[in-house]
Amino acid sequence: MDHFQLRDGVLHAEDVPLPTIAEEVGTPVYVYSRATLVRHARVFREALSGLKNPHIAFAVKSNPNLAVLRVLANEGYGADVVSGGELTRALKAGMKAEDIVFSGVGKTHAELQQGLEEGIGQFNIESEEEGYELAAIARRFGKRAACALRVNPDVDARTHEKISTGKRENKFGVPLDRAAEIYAALAKEEGLDMRGIAVHIGSQLGDLEPLETAFGKVGALIAELREAGCSVTHADLGGGLGVPYKAGEEFPPPSEYGAMVARVTQGWDVQLMFEPGRVIAGNAGVLLTRVIRSKRSGNGPPFLVVDAAMNDLTRPAMYGAWHDFEAVEPTGQKAVQHIVGPICETGDTFAMDRECDALAAGDLAVFRTAGAYGATMASSYNSRGFVAEVLVDGDKFAIVADRIAASAIMDAERVPDWLEG
Ligand SMILES: *Cc1c(COP(=O)(O)O)cnc(C)c1O
Repeated sequence: MDHFQLRDGVLHAEDVPLPTIAEEVGTPVYVYSRATLVRHARVFREALSGLKNPHIAFAVKSNPNLAVLRVLANEGYGADVVSGGELTRALKAGMKAEDIVFSGVGKTHAELQQGLEEGIGQFNIESEEEGYELAAIARRFGKRAACALRVNPDVDARTHEKISTGKRENKFGVPLDRAAEIYAALAKEEGLDMRGIAVHIGSQLGDLEPLETAFGKVGALIAELREAGCSVTHADLGGGLGVPYKAGEEFPPPSEYGAMVARVTQGWDVQLMFEPGRVIAGNAGVLLTRVIRSKRSGNGPPFLVVDAAMNDLTRPAMYGAWHDFEAVEPTGQKAVQHIVGPICETGDTFAMDRECDALAAGDLAVFRTAGAYGATMASSYNSRGFVAEVLVDGDKFAIVADRIAASAIMDAERVPDWLEG
């Protein structure tokens, strides 16, 4: 359920008509709904109500906007961060340091140090080498870093290959068959408090079975570790729940996921941790765009050239992803159209032969399900600047990220003296 609905023939975000935002902020612009974010955060928490004291850390990489993070901080969410920049954001948004988990395969020395200095709740260590490096820094600071060891369970998540992370050949985590040995070795380090196992097998999962298989392997590993005398008090089960990108598509609801987790983890006797991203933010945002023109193309469908492009919403170009495309003021008339952006690259195609609302130059439209992995993946390719973001709350809205003009980006560039003629 989301709060982007037609009212009197006009698409609204909560109580705000989208044409009002287009007029005041311009297009393209991401529009997020606070009520939808809150709803998703609560549905996910409710789905875990059968578990004892679950810890929920929003995956900041899915939508790092400060206002979005603040909404989730207000819901009691912590943060799963994958860089020093995300850590800084999570703290600035009001997330408590102890509720922050630091994931990522390439944390630098400086980032490990930053995490320690800020007193974050947990490092998800992705290699033996990283563990020893963190241990050395912690010793120097006279601290102990709470850690989970991320394992690679070699499970096929059955999702797009670029967002699959739990196969043996993926770069993430340590191989399951070496995990017990590495965990025991790191547990001897005085700078580390090895307290758990972490797993995250991929994103946009449409099927709970690969997750269940991976969690089963984690359960067996926990038993093996305890048998070997290691202490395990936490298990971080990552994120990955998929969301529908097409109207009518069915995905396992969070409640089913929660029931599966409760069943599989029964008797683990650990605090369970979660890192949802897309399932919270995906359907809480749309990308609002205006049609620049409709261009005839031989006998084929017309090219609808919109003012959003692959630099603003990368998923279709990067993953071949589908986003529903709808008129803001639909007439009821449908047409088959190619939907493209203005960028000089054929990859800047949102959809070919899409049957959707018939649109013409000047009309407004939205790409749906753009709240996760949308604005955060934007670039300034073709010197288009960075897209703006708006948060709606009931009948009010605010710009939560300014549009950054191409000229402002250019201000950061220099032509060295020695190039002057
Ligand atoms: C990306 C990521 C997540 C969030 O994944 P979603 O599919 O958005 O839920 C969680 N944990 C880690 C370690 C990640 O890299």
